[in-house]
Amino acid sequence: MILIIDDSPENIFSLKKILELHNQEVDTALSGEEGLKKVLKNNYALIILDVQMPGMDGFEVAETISGYSKAKDTPIIFLSAISIDKKYITKGYASGAVDYITKPVDADILMLKVKTFLKLYEQTRELNEIQQALREEIEYKNQAQSELRERVQELRSILESIPQIAFTAKRNGKIEFVNQHWFNYGQLESEFPPTHPDDKSILEEWNQTIKTGLPLTMEVRFRKRRSEDYRWHLLKALPVKEDEQIMKWVGTFTDIEEQKQSEQKKDEFISIASHELKTPLTSIKAYLQLLQRSIESTGNNVVVNYLQRTQVQIEKLHHLITDLLDISKIESGKLKFNKKLFDLGPVVQSVVETIRQTHEGSTVIIKNNAQVQIYGDSERIEQVIINYLTNALKYSPDSREVELETFILNNKEVRVNIKDKGIGIPMEKQTNIFQKFYRAEDSSSRFQGLGIGLYICAEIIKRHNGKYGVQSEEGKGSLFYFTIPLASHT
Ligand code: ADP
Repeated sequence: MILIIDDSPENIFSLKKILELHNQEVDTALSGEEGLKKVLKNNYALIILDVQMPGMDGFEVAETISGYSKAKDTPIIFLSAISIDKKYITKGYASGAVDYITKPVDADILMLKVKTFLKLYEQTRELNEIQQALREEIEYKNQAQSELRERVQELRSILESIPQIAFTAKRNGKIEFVNQHWFNYGQLESEFPPTHPDDKSILEEWNQTIKTGLPLTMEVRFRKRRSEDYRWHLLKALPVKEDEQIMKWVGTFTDIEEQKQSEQKKDEFISIASHELKTPLTSIKAYLQLLQRSIESTGNNVVVNYLQRTQVQIEKLHHLITDLLDISKIESGKLKFNKKLFDLGPVVQSVVETIRQTHEGSTVIIKNNAQVQIYGDSERIEQVIINYLTNALKYSPDSREVELETFILNNKEVRVNIKDKGIGIPMEKQTNIFQKFYRAEDSSSRFQGLGIGLYICAEIIKRHNGKYGVQSEEGKGSLFYFTIPLASHT
């Protein structure tokens, strides 16, 4: 909008007409004082100012305007009866753009000057806006940088205060900070401390981690700088992300030597105990069989019945001890497989028949039994199916019905599904179910078990290059599965 300040209403009228004819919005003031009030209240793109006015004259008005921060850059065109020396007018209004026009006003010249100034006003406004945006951006960047510096400092203080060895690395894997504990094991800040010669190379795993962007967990042995003894450490490194972008890595090495030792002692104990238990148990089994045979001929049914029950319990004990032995064989890498080509169909059929006999009152339905050949240890595969089936029945106290299905997948592998309508497993526990000694605590008080069956199954399937897993809904039931490559694909 353009403001005209002139004490003559006729002048105002004619100027307003000219400007409005050229589509300009116009505001007017009949004195310098009124004009100043309007300038304070509104924003004008241009002021046309009469020089000779009663009260404040045009120069005084211009001088006052130049003191208002909001309007000091607004261009002014002075209106004067005589031509004014340029030096004289700039004195009153040094900071803004100024010009003058003599009366009577030539409409063309007026419009030429008005348009020039309006363009100038527009350009100045745009420039100011850009400048403001730039200033804000710089301020924002400065603030973000100082926040980042603070966060880095905070993280480093935390890493200094923890008992673990800790480090941070750039997104490309280059180590940028290590805490004091680091130097108990390593000499250089830029390199991981040296590990036991038999352990995996940290650097190789680290490079792989940086490539994939996935968290790293590994166990390695370090020794203190002047010590001979290596101690086990757990390395955990996690990416720090912002908007899904990896910004840096934070890692710790935790001393797990004591845990490792007690785990080793426990494994040794399990191994010795299960070996020691197995020998007398095998003799008891043999003697029981002899006893049963000799009593059967006497026809004493009560004793035969008791003997049969004893045998069932001995069989359970035998399974437990065999499982414990398997665990210690897995730990020491001595779980052996007697792999041959075999047909899976008959194995499935015979397992189901055994289960039907040993679990009276339960129903095992074979929905489909694919006739396929696989290369593997049939007894171990049988062990997996028995484990899945007995679990399915054990954890289904209200429905004694279980479904088994085997089918070929993509002509490459065979999949075995065992489905129950039992208690199910909560989502968050499903990933742990195949771990050693893990039991979903909701079921452990109601059902007996050691939490090792599925761990052994997982190991057996892994060693046959297969996959395993569970789909389950709490309260509705579970589907346990495994796959094995077909013999034609091994
Ligand atoms: P165990 O049955 O001796 O505890 P497993 O290793 O066979 O050990 O199973 C581990 C855990 O998985 C069980 O304790 C139980 O919580 C859960 N689980 C296994 N099978 C089922 C199933 N079919 N339905 C519900 N929970 C199951």
